Amino acid sequence: MSKTVDAAIVGAGLSGLVSAYRLQRAGADVVVLEAKDRVGGRLMTSASRSGIGVDSGGSWVGLRQQAVLALLEEFGIGLVPQYADGVNLLRIAGREYRYQGEIPRLRPHEMLDLGRAMWVLDRIAKRLGAPPWTGDFAARVDERSLGAWMRRNVRTAASRLVLEMVTAASFGCRPTELSLLTFSAHVHGSGGLSDLIGVSDGALAYRIAGGAAALPARLAESLGDRVRLGHAVTGIERHADHVILTGPGRPPVRARRVIVAADPATVACIAHRPALPAGRAELQRRWQMGSGIKAHVVYRRPWWRERGLTGAAITDAGTARITFDVSPPETGEGVLTTFLGLPVSDDPALLAPEAGDRRRQRVLEDLAALFGPDVWTFEDYIEKDWTRESWQSGCLLRVPTGVLSVGRPWLTEPVGALHWAGSESSHFGEGHMDGAVRAGTRAAEEVLAELALKQLRT
Ligand SMILES: Cc1cc2nc3c(=O)[nH]c(=O)nc-3n(C[C@H](O)[C@H](O)[C@H](O)COP(=O)(O)OP(=O)(O)OC[C@H]3O[C@@H](n4cnc5c(N)ncnc54)[C@H](O)[C@@H]3O)c2cc1C
Repeated sequence: MSKTVDAAIVGAGLSGLVSAYRLQRAGADVVVLEAKDRVGGRLMTSASRSGIGVDSGGSWVGLRQQAVLALLEEFGIGLVPQYADGVNLLRIAGREYRYQGEIPRLRPHEMLDLGRAMWVLDRIAKRLGAPPWTGDFAARVDERSLGAWMRRNVRTAASRLVLEMVTAASFGCRPTELSLLTFSAHVHGSGGLSDLIGVSDGALAYRIAGGAAALPARLAESLGDRVRLGHAVTGIERHADHVILTGPGRPPVRARRVIVAADPATVACIAHRPALPAGRAELQRRWQMGSGIKAHVVYRRPWWRERGLTGAAITDAGTARITFDVSPPETGEGVLTTFLGLPVSDDPALLAPEAGDRRRQRVLEDLAALFGPDVWTFEDYIEKDWTRESWQSGCLLRVPTGVLSVGRPWLTEPVGALHWAGSESSHFGEGHMDGAVRAGTRAAEEVLAELALKQLRT
């Protein structure tokens, strides 16, 4: 066994790397153990045939996401404003609505219905306490799914579609699979529902220049050989003054403190000795993540812009039901992206791994139905299937009813020398990059406080 390090971090996603970076800067001796052969976790930039990078994982950052914005600035990584100069499309039952800005211009009774639903959802989010999962009101809100709430409170198909697409894009699931509390707590942290879906000043305002994976790459670079790839942790033993981490084919690692930096569902496979407290173990068992496939279609130029379109579309039919323009400004090429998954597909068989060719054909047909025949002039088609990614339970948090109001404290409560990071454990921006940065920083501060205390005692 190697020497005892101050802190071992499990997971080289954004959160774990931020923990390690902060600890190292404070003078602690750290090691990061990552199961995959790359860093970044849910941040991954894939290259097109022409060499441009597209975000196969997380992509957008918003103006309120101060933690990730500050870190990007620290590393001198720039931002690309989301293209919004034109008309968005919404298609429901064959009827097309064209609109600018965030809120679709529906028929008056549909607008009224959507406006009222958004107002009530914002009110629920505002009534939540601090932290939002505590108190009787939160417990009551956690008894219902967003879908159950929508059945009673949303009357028109158009409003339902908009809320379904917000849920698919922000949580990777259907409204029936998501607790109303999970949804409302996220809205609470995002500063309101329109901020969550907003382009000009909301959560979709910017993308990261050069691709989102640039951030974990730069963090890993600063840590050098302290990051060990292909090093899965499958066992954690807690002793009186140290912790031992074991994994297949790797020597055990001994550390004073440990930060487990991944979502609760993914780390549920780690065996603990002694066993984890029942509350934490139950949280890991019940936690869920929404998942799907992210696809990019690459063109020589963003030709839809010439027709006054932003490339953003929502439709109630087909497989590609929500699209965005993610063209890289530096090369002049055009890129459309879409998120494919069970919550937003009318043919689940198309999502099977062996249906790749049929899936691509359907995505292109769906895009052509929205934007016209120029869709077929594509140069490249790139897909990333997150349902098949090892050491990853999914893309975004989709916590069902009765989990947050009961188990939320266990997301951050240290267990002996074990601390928890990972985006899902953040009080703000949970499930997103901003939450990953905040959680990584919080866990590093907890560890530093414990190490300082120990030094004082010795
Ligand atoms: C398709 C998609 C779209 C998204 N869109 C956005 C977006 O637009 N904006 C946004 O802000 N966020 C978005 N997200 C979410 C964002 O990417 C994540 O919130 C963030 O990257 C999470 O970072 P993390 O470090 O907490 O977790 P992860 O990135 O999941 O990192 C955890 C790491 O731990 C490793 N690991 C797990 N178990 C073990 C083990 N036992 N031993 C060793 N290593 C282990 C994993 O391999 C992984 O590398 C998206 C994610 C996806 C997948």
